[in-house]
Amino acid sequence: MIKNEFFSNISHEFRTPINIILGTMQVINKNIEKGSISIDSLKKHTNYIRQNSYRLLRLVNNLIDISKMDIGMYELRCCNQNIISIIEDITLSVAGYTKNNKINLVFDTDIEEVITYCDPDKIERIMLNILSNAIKYTPEYGDIEVKINYNEDEILVSIKDSGVGIPKDKLDIIFDRFGQVNGSFNRKCEGSGIGLSLVKNLVEMHGGKVSVNSKVNKGSEFTFSIPIRVEKSTCSDYDADRKYKHVERCEIEFSDIYSMSM
Ligand code: ADP
Repeated sequence: MIKNEFFSNISHEFRTPINIILGTMQVINKNIEKGSISIDSLKKHTNYIRQNSYRLLRLVNNLIDISKMDIGMYELRCCNQNIISIIEDITLSVAGYTKNNKINLVFDTDIEEVITYCDPDKIERIMLNILSNAIKYTPEYGDIEVKINYNEDEILVSIKDSGVGIPKDKLDIIFDRFGQVNGSFNRKCEGSGIGLSLVKNLVEMHGGKVSVNSKVNKGSEFTFSIPIRVEKSTCSDYDADRKYKHVERCEIEFSDIYSMSM
């Protein structure tokens, strides 16, 4: 990508949340000066600030990760883990968001346990990115289905939504950096176009593949594979810590979706 295009894209992504934060602070200050600030309105406004701070954090995190990947400095922290329960836990943890957006979420699996060598944090990142898109681009009363299939070599995770879909000629570019389907017809939310390029890198670092199937006005299905293999693992169990941090990571990855905290 041309350098200038990169900077103008990124600058815009930074400017929007910063403007919201500054504007919100201004409103709060005006209300303080007038002596008319209620706890409820303060809560609402600090929520805007928090959510847009998370958007900035997500953007910075994604940029740092992509730069690290580019120079080969990004590493996985793999353990032998039950990947089915990792994926199930992550899916169920976003139920609050789907409920808030009046979307029906279903989880289904062919198998309860598959131990494989993977990085749980990165699997979470992959899932949250795809799920947050599914929520973003699916209207009220739509459906999202997460399904796990497997064969002897790999597990296959499919995330299918009944949302706006992606035009055929755009299917190739959405995994590219900053690849977005332009035009306001399907954009009910903000986004930077980095998420899916990160997803693709993370899946490929695990030795898997990601693909998409979609029809405009019918919905989209993202499928990724993770090879099944058990390796000698030296990493200790950091599961407790992981669960503790999950809530915040969810807020970061879902910061583009407005209706949750408003
Ligand atoms: P963004 O932050 O813009 O959502 P992504 O890299 O996550 O960036 O996605 C790239 C583009 O792919 C999006 O801008 C959107 O046009 C399209 N897209 C991704 N997931 C879906 C989906 N589930 N339904 C419809 N369009 C989608």
